[in-house]
Order: sequence, then structure tokens, then C-alpha cells
Amino acid sequence: MLAPFTAGWQTTDVNPLVIDKSEGSYVYDINGKKYLDSLAGLWCTALGGNEPRLVEAATAQLNKLPFYHSFWNRTTKPSLDLAKDLLETFTARKMAKAFFVNSGSEANDTQVKLVWYYNNALGRPNKKKFIARAKSYHGSTLIAASLSGLPALHQKFDLPAPFVLHTDCPHYWRFHLPGETEEEFSTRLAKNLEELILKEGPDTIAAFIAEPVMGAGGVIPPPATYFEKIQAVVKKYDILFIADEVICAFGRLGTMYGCDKYGIKPDLVSLAKALSSAYLPIGAVLVSPEVSEVIHSQSNKLGSFSHGFTYSGHPVSCAVAIEALKIYKERNIVEKVANISPRFQDGVKAFADSPIIGEIRGTGLILGTEFTDNKSPNDPFPPEWGVGAYFGAQCEKHGMLVRVAGDNIMMSPPFIISPEEVDELISIYGKALKGTEERVK
Ligand code: PLP
Repeated sequence: MLAPFTAGWQTTDVNPLVIDKSEGSYVYDINGKKYLDSLAGLWCTALGGNEPRLVEAATAQLNKLPFYHSFWNRTTKPSLDLAKDLLETFTARKMAKAFFVNSGSEANDTQVKLVWYYNNALGRPNKKKFIARAKSYHGSTLIAASLSGLPALHQKFDLPAPFVLHTDCPHYWRFHLPGETEEEFSTRLAKNLEELILKEGPDTIAAFIAEPVMGAGGVIPPPATYFEKIQAVVKKYDILFIADEVICAFGRLGTMYGCDKYGIKPDLVSLAKALSSAYLPIGAVLVSPEVSEVIHSQSNKLGSFSHGFTYSGHPVSCAVAIEALKIYKERNIVEKVANISPRFQDGVKAFADSPIIGEIRGTGLILGTEFTDNKSPNDPFPPEWGVGAYFGAQCEKHGMLVRVAGDNIMMSPPFIISPEEVDELISIYGKALKGTEERVK
């Protein structure tokens, strides 16, 4: 297999961890070993590994109508119902339409096409550039990888595409100046963004895209007042704001959306992952009334909005997503996450004094640990020491899976994680840290 984001796939000595079964917050490998799945798959199995209602929803829909498409004004009831349900869940501002895709990457690719189509309709053919942020992750298709601000997604892929610009990563601990407060840091980043817009020409900048909390870049919550200041700049130059909520939506941060937590009023929203609790692939783009009106009138002129996928609004994925949204509501999942988050955050952050930890950061049920020497962002351990990889292996040995990216460790457990499971997570984290400290020092 040519495996995604995997090194050494060409060699014969690769020994993958083969996952065979899941149950609540746990997964089992092919040999029967049990692991606490601290990343919920890939930040996505929000309802854990064996939610029977999602299986029943899929089975019922498979038996009734396994497939029909949504092209040419034909569609299915599950896709219509999901669009309606989804729009009701988003209250940070009014959204008018939902467009269905199969993944977060497709959602973000769709955003670029929507925005270009919108600006062409408004007679602004030069307003086409996108501004994303260093260390962001928006997916791995050509455009989504271009928007992403991680060098590994660009190197040797001839990316990013020339219409994508990157502005500062809002990581206070790493990038603040001596004596600078979080608010001052946010002011400086907003000023830098404005300078970039002015340098490029506001008439050329179409949209700004941001994850409310950066995920794959290392779990980076925004510094105080950041989104307030960034939104003011974006608005001033008539630039659309795209909230990439692929990780943050549906409760991850203890609010229904990341936009709710940070007062973001976006024009467009990208969704995927927990939309179906990852039981089937589905993503969505939410479109504001202002943008959708322009897109509709343009498509009327042209005869159609010629964008979409065979599986846009797949009825079985939609049926599962409808059920997932129902469960989130019935079980007060957002409140549950908000209630359990302090146990998770405080429990792991209690290890922040470790001499090999630079920073532990997060909010809600998402957390990142960065290993550095001397508690400093400027003293990384030599990469050949493999500190993060060793910690990850220690976790695995003790029965927990974490995400390792260099010396960054990331966790985002299922929303249904119990207090006892949080305690187990903290205990394994502690054991793995002790083993790693012994090795490093
Ligand atoms: N956007 C964000 C914020 C993500 O974290 C991801 C995946 O992790 C994506 C987009 C891409 O989603 P997918 O892998 O479903 O294409």
C-alpha cells in the first residue's frame, strides 16, 4: 500500500500497526492489544468506536436507497434534511446554504472555487488571492495543501500555488517579542496582515482562511483578541473570512463551533470529520446569504453552478450525519465536553514543569505538547534524538495512541470519553513522559 503521510512505504521492513476493532474510546490492533485512542482516529470519531445508532442509520439508508446523486436539481431526502439540520446548528451568524463534499480537503477546494466564482460574478476578476497562515493545515489536495502552511505539504510537490500567501502563525509562546502581551502580539499580527494586504493590493485578495484552533500544526489556540483584530482587517478590505472548522466543529472546544468560542462571524465554513463522527466520509461548506445570493444569480446566468462530486450529499453519509447531529443534541455533547475538559486540560498540563516540555497548550478536548530543551521555543532537541517519536512509542507500549509530528504530540479524544478514561489517559501520558525524560536526560 502507498500509505498517506507515511515514510518508508517503499521498503519491505515497514511494520504498520494494524487496527482491527473499536469500542468506545478504545481501538484494538490485529493482535488484540487495546489502546486508548487519544486522537479519536484523526480528530474525528467523536462518538467513539461503536455507536449502534450510527450503524443503524447507515443500514436503514443502505436498505432503502444506497445511492442517488444531487446533480441537476435531483437529490435525496437525507441530503435535504441534513442541509436543514446543519444550518440550524450554526448560530454564530446566519448561514444560507450547505454544499456537501466528501472530506475536509474537498471542502476547502470548494471554498476556493466558490470564492473565485463569487468574485467573477461581481466583476472583480483580480480579487483571487488567498491568505492562509503558517503552520495551518487545510488538507492535502492541490489547493488545500497550498492553503496549508506546513512545508512538508509543499516540498517536492511544486506547491503552494501562486495565488496563496501565508501570514503569521498566531503562536504566542513561540513568536512573541520580549515583554509583548498576548493582546499586543495579536495587534502586531493584525498589523502584519494589513501590511501584506496593502503590499499585494486589497483588490487582489479574495479570502482569508483560518482554523479557530490550529490542529495539525501543533494545536495552537489563538492568543487573546486575535480573531477580533484579524476580522476587523479582513472586513476593512472586503475580504471573505473562511472558518475551517473541520476539527473544531460540533463540540471539540466545548462549544458547538469554534466560531462560537472566538466570536468569529465567517462568510464560509468548512466542515467534515465529526459531522458523521467519521463513520462515513462526508464534509460540507456553509455559505452565507450574501455569498450564496451572488452565486445563485451567476449560476442562473450561466445555466448552472458547475461544481460538485458524484458523492456530494451521499444519502448514506447524510443519514449517518443526521443521526450524529441528533445524538450530539440529545446527549448534550457540547456541554459534556465543556464539563470534562478541565479534567483533561488540567490533568495533562500538570506535567508542564517537566524539563523536556516546552509548552502544553489546548482548550476543550484538544491538546498539544511540544518537547524542547530549557523550556525554550528556541532550543529544540536534535531531530535525530527522536524525542517525540520516543514518547509516542512509550504511549503505544502503555496502551495509548497519540499523534506525533516531530517533537509535537497531539491529542483530541472522542467527545464521549469518560472521567475514568481521562484519568487513564493522564496516567499513561505520565508514564510515557517519565520514560522519555529518563532517555533524554
Ligand atoms: N482542515 C482541517 C482543519 C483539518 O484538520 C483537516 C484534516 O485533518 C482537513 C481540513 C482535511 O480534511 P480531510 O483529511 O478530510 O481531507
